[in-house]
Amino acid sequence: MGRTLAVVGGGVVGSMIAWRAARKGWDTTIYESDRADSASWVAGGMLGCLGEARPGEDTALDLARASARCWPEVLTALADPTITVASDTVLIAADTADAHELATRADYLLGHGLAMKPLSGKDIRSVSPGLGSSVRRGYLAMSEGALDNRALLRALRGAATQAGVEVRTHHVTDVGDLDTDQVVVAAGVGVGRLWPPAPVRAEKGEIIRLRRPPTAPPPPDNVIRARWRGRLVYLVPRGDGVVVGATQYEVGVDTDPEPRAGGVGDLLADAIEVMPGLAEYRVSEVGGGMRPVTPDALPLIGRVDERTVLAAGHGRNGIMLAPITAELVTGHLDGTADPRWSATLDPRRFT
Ligand SMILES: Cc1cc2nc3c(=O)[nH]c(=O)nc-3n(C[C@H](O)[C@H](O)[C@H](O)COP(=O)(O)OP(=O)(O)OC[C@H]3O[C@@H](n4cnc5c(N)ncnc54)[C@H](O)[C@@H]3O)c2cc1C
Repeated sequence: MGRTLAVVGGGVVGSMIAWRAARKGWDTTIYESDRADSASWVAGGMLGCLGEARPGEDTALDLARASARCWPEVLTALADPTITVASDTVLIAADTADAHELATRADYLLGHGLAMKPLSGKDIRSVSPGLGSSVRRGYLAMSEGALDNRALLRALRGAATQAGVEVRTHHVTDVGDLDTDQVVVAAGVGVGRLWPPAPVRAEKGEIIRLRRPPTAPPPPDNVIRARWRGRLVYLVPRGDGVVVGATQYEVGVDTDPEPRAGGVGDLLADAIEVMPGLAEYRVSEVGGGMRPVTPDALPLIGRVDERTVLAAGHGRNGIMLAPITAELVTGHLDGTADPRWSATLDPRRFT
């Protein structure tokens, strides 16, 4: 088998794959239409193995845990201290219904041997002093941190280039036009245009970046994930402030990612109630992005013909799942695919 490879898509998934493939000897080129419109550029950056876990989605939890085990090695190799922005997550609830929902999730995780430490309102305010008085109770998810997604993308691009990856700004309309031996399609919500059977839908998410002026209280040290009167809001620290996210609702894949005033208004109101000091912060960016979602909440990773491997449909967890995805994709390219995941993640499993 030849060793030239085209990766279509330069988001976190495509970049991680290209970097790993180049280190395994593949002569690799990334084709990227516009990184600024990728979900990876917009995202919050949480490595939300526990925070994103949902009762019943056991396989998704196993995959996330497998990827969590890969992250330390990836971060060591990237050697950029600005990427990691938090090491733990505090999950909190506002009213009784929110607390009940959170407790159900905690019971599910405890049942899988994953520890979440219960926190009273007083405990929470000692872990995260800036939180508002309406925060009643919560849990500490230890070692569930977050990354600065943009620092990560820059570092991945640098590492990939150093490993010999070429990056071309080019919108691919047909993988048949690419003259490489193998092609990986990692085009996020755009995957269906290159492989039409892909059952990938778009879930829009809005996010706000807040910058801290010198006089305002500091951002939290940890990720704060809140169930807030039936809505979800999270705060992810950054060097200069905080990222507030994120709404989620399904739209057509061709819908524009521009943020809606209503979604942004709700996020901001909830975030300020969770952490009142944020009222003094400056709004530096309001953005929207498209999460590529699948019917069973698992990504599509695997070969669809003898020349093409798919890596798409990572939904809410594409950053979290990037390292395990790169490992599985290079396995498919080298003919050493991990049998444990091949059938489960097979892109043709719905057809
Ligand atoms: C608001 C929001 C918050 C999120 N927060 C988190 C989080 O905290 N943690 C987490 O793990 N995940 C999070 N996610 C999900 C995560 O961002 C995605 O799952 C992940 O970025 C998907 O990565 P990707 O590389 O597959 O797709 P993308 O990042 O969308 O990249 C695909 C790239 O392919 C390019 N492309 C598409 N078609 C073509 C083509 N035909 N030719 C050339 N290039 C093409 C696009 O321009 C794009 O740059 C969030 C998503 C959103 C929207």
